[in-house]
Amino acid sequence: MKLCRFGPPGQEKPGLIDSAGALRDLSGVIQDLGPDQLGPASLQKLAQLKAQSLPAVSGNPRLGPPVSGTRQFMAIGLNYSDHARESNMEIPKEPVVFTKAVSCIQGPNDPIVLPRGSVKTDWEVELGVIIGSRASYITEAQALAHVAGYCVINDVSEREYQLERAGTWDKGKGCPTFGPLGPWLVTADEVGDPQTLSMWLDVNGRRLQNGSTRTMIFGIARLVSYLSNFMTLLPGDVITTGTPPGVGLGMKPSPLYLQAGDVVTLGIEKLGEQRQQVVPWQAG
Ligand code: ZN
Repeated sequence: MKLCRFGPPGQEKPGLIDSAGALRDLSGVIQDLGPDQLGPASLQKLAQLKAQSLPAVSGNPRLGPPVSGTRQFMAIGLNYSDHARESNMEIPKEPVVFTKAVSCIQGPNDPIVLPRGSVKTDWEVELGVIIGSRASYITEAQALAHVAGYCVINDVSEREYQLERAGTWDKGKGCPTFGPLGPWLVTADEVGDPQTLSMWLDVNGRRLQNGSTRTMIFGIARLVSYLSNFMTLLPGDVITTGTPPGVGLGMKPSPLYLQAGDVVTLGIEKLGEQRQQVVPWQAG
């Protein structure tokens, strides 16, 4: 099942993409797609709906993030060995964990705003995991049963704030608009094995990232289990799981960063595509 949220920011309605790829309105069935709608029993009920019986949505409305009410937005660093190398960092022995501010979450095609004064804003295509049920001290064998589904995430990052301003990485990871999610939440049953998905990212039509979740150092089951030892994961939480090589920081002979006017497009097999225009920061 492909689930989404559509409409103006803050007023999104829940929707479903039918087998013909058309958007159907789910707002007569559920209030939203958030913590209360993502558990296994709720998803099971949605799966039994006849998509053709739901109202078709006309036009081409904006898509919001496919999950609302996210309380924790966790991220994994350096989870692809080639990316660790291009960043001149050691391959981690345990998952590197940081947080992205929940307030940076936005729709998949909303613009990326360069933070005030930023000169090192960078891109990272990543597989996002959306938690369906509370998870605390769970094993790897239990972990995937707590996953409602997956989505594309651009883990937008400001490298100066992340790496040159002291302390943790978080300063460069949660700036406004740094968390495009979607276009859809694709349920775990439809995705199947999350470790076989190809992924790519272009800037202005030039292919810069081209990878696969096959080359993750720590797989999804390990990451969900691992995080649940340090925090209680809640329904609607989002985990972004690291990026393959090809980010601007690692470009040779010198790094390349986003400029106003650039267009970033990215996608993951089975999960759809995003498109973001880069715009300058403006007061107000
Ligand atoms: Zn990342």
